[in-house]
Amino acid sequence: MITFDSVTKRYADGTIAVDNLSLEAPTGQITVFVGPSGCGKTTSLRMINRMIDATEGQILLDGEPVQGIDPPTLRRGIGYVIQQAGLFPHRKIVDNVATVPYLLGWDKKKARDRAMELLERVGLDPKMAQRYPFQLSGGQQQRVGVARALAADPPVLLMDEPFSAVDPIVRTSLQDELLRLQSELNKTIVFVTHDIDEAIKLGDRVAVLRVGGKLAQLADPKTLLSEPADDFVREFLGHDRGIRRLQFIRTDGLRLRTDLTVPEDYSGSTAEPWLLIVSGDNRPIAWIPGAGGEREPYGSFVWNRDSMRSALDAALLSPSGCAVAVDDDGKVVGVVTREAMDEALAVVADG
Ligand code: ADP
Ligand code: MG
Repeated sequence: MITFDSVTKRYADGTIAVDNLSLEAPTGQITVFVGPSGCGKTTSLRMINRMIDATEGQILLDGEPVQGIDPPTLRRGIGYVIQQAGLFPHRKIVDNVATVPYLLGWDKKKARDRAMELLERVGLDPKMAQRYPFQLSGGQQQRVGVARALAADPPVLLMDEPFSAVDPIVRTSLQDELLRLQSELNKTIVFVTHDIDEAIKLGDRVAVLRVGGKLAQLADPKTLLSEPADDFVREFLGHDRGIRRLQFIRTDGLRLRTDLTVPEDYSGSTAEPWLLIVSGDNRPIAWIPGAGGEREPYGSFVWNRDSMRSALDAALLSPSGCAVAVDDDGKVVGVVTREAMDEALAVVADG
């Protein structure tokens, strides 16, 4: 656990970058620091590994003040990932990843084996190992940066806007990869970003900072979206809080109908507004009005895996206003009618 105990950082020119910050980053969790540019995120992060020393207050690592630990020793237990990966341009990828093990005096083969294992873990082709950083895309370089930070298996990982400089699609896959890694590694991670969506996606806990280095709110993402502490946080979260909150709500509360599917050759009519045409192996094909008429497109979501946000999205994608629930193989589990969606959303709105 990392503890900030009334930490203030005043730079030589009088700028107060961090103002009386107290919070805990629990062991094995991702704590995100989010806020606009200049609100003291980087300063806060760098005080943990003593690249910057606090002016007042203290930071404790598992109860021990970092001020009492000499920086090289401290940093051995703390991986650090920055925006531009910060790789050594003249070293091959494998040697970049093995940087810390080399420093720790591991034998060369052990260090390289470890590097190869990590490259695979972060989703890079082993062929990349013999390349130089400039021969990799920005996203691949960030993966190498993560692998390098993990090389000596430090319990703590500090990440300063590591995915901010890559395009949105690559960013999404890097985020997914980090969550997958974290589910195996359970590191104590402090992750800095200015992107509230990234904060909400990655954080077990999110600390929202305002300019002047003051903590505006510390909460889990769901609470943050439903109960922003003040106008600043509300503004920062943006105007679609309600929709985004749906991504934390499971779909198992939705009422499914299983009596509304018909085979491809169906030609009857019914009082039901919509029927779902399915293939012989039970995959969705199209909606058709119950009284007969043109086929209309459908939207689907994975039952009990996707969130209410995906379910609502699936409903909005179709003129029927109904959503198709499928299993992991894409086979129909049932359908959510407009009425069922209304009921579920009413429950959500009630809190
Ligand atoms: P963030 O990472 O949230 O953008 P920083 O921690 O980098 O914010 O900076 C917080 C504040 O401290 C800003 O006002 C910034 O200009 C100021 N600052 C950062 N580094 C220094 C420095 N070395 N000297 C003086 N002011 C600094
Ligand atoms: Mg910064």
